[in-house]
Amino acid sequence: MQRLAKTWQREGRRIGFVPTMGYLHEGHLTLVRRARQLVGPEGRVVVSIYVNPSQFGPEEDLSKYPRDLRKDTLLCRQAGVDVIFVPTDAEMYPPGDGEGFSTWVIEEQLSREMEGRSRPTHFRGVTTVVAKLFNIVLPDVAVFGAKDWQQAAIIQRMVRDLNFPLKIIVAPTHREPDGLAMSSRNKYLVGTLRPQAVALSQAIALAQAAVRKSKRPLSAATLAAPLKQHLEQQPDARVDYIEFFNPESLRAVAKVVRGTHLALAVFVGTTRLIDNARL
Ligand code: AMP
Repeated sequence: MQRLAKTWQREGRRIGFVPTMGYLHEGHLTLVRRARQLVGPEGRVVVSIYVNPSQFGPEEDLSKYPRDLRKDTLLCRQAGVDVIFVPTDAEMYPPGDGEGFSTWVIEEQLSREMEGRSRPTHFRGVTTVVAKLFNIVLPDVAVFGAKDWQQAAIIQRMVRDLNFPLKIIVAPTHREPDGLAMSSRNKYLVGTLRPQAVALSQAIALAQAAVRKSKRPLSAATLAAPLKQHLEQQPDARVDYIEFFNPESLRAVAKVVRGTHLALAVFVGTTRLIDNARL
């Protein structure tokens, strides 16, 4: 992959990159189209498909994470992707008793809140694998989804802090017609779980309406209570966190105003869903 990328660089082609864990949906494809727009018809668009073990916790869904490489390949071909990069675990994390792999990239500020609190080793896995992928694919531009707002912020910080020579673009969250943010994990939402999952985007809409209606800043705690109540009215829903924060610093705020960001993580059955939006 790296050799190919260097050939493209010599030919003066721009390289656009979309890292994914596969089981592609329309949300991923909007990122691919954005990458194509950014590099132009003569550029090259690379999608990586890699379910990165190091970003899953020991109790998480690594082994059952959905995979369908055949369908992903077809979708990428239809979307005009030039190369799908599908490394193996042994290539990314060479085995060997402590000798195979021992270098990690750790962002130490933005990673502490929200997802980082619930999933303590998650972002270290993300930053490490994304740094590796950037070094392998050598992109001029990489596109990430706003769906994973904290992840995108951390990657932007990593790129700035470590001088990666590329630009990060964050594309909007793509949703199902009923508002549910598209996610590979939505596959787990079978039967009565699927309609309950709409409560996340409904909670966001409730918060947006409250903020837009109010002339004064709202207390985060006061605003969170009815959201939690709405979410937990669903029989199989359990709130992990509801957080109001500054979209750049990711710091939690006590007072919510227009432009404050809301993020939520909610278990629906055993599936943990996340969503976020600007209020
Ligand atoms: P994943 O395969 O879940 O690791 O996601 C790969 C990339 O696609 C990440 O940058 C995600 O933020 C992005 N992504 C996932 N779901 C969506 C969505 N519904 N809308 C926009 N981007 C998304």
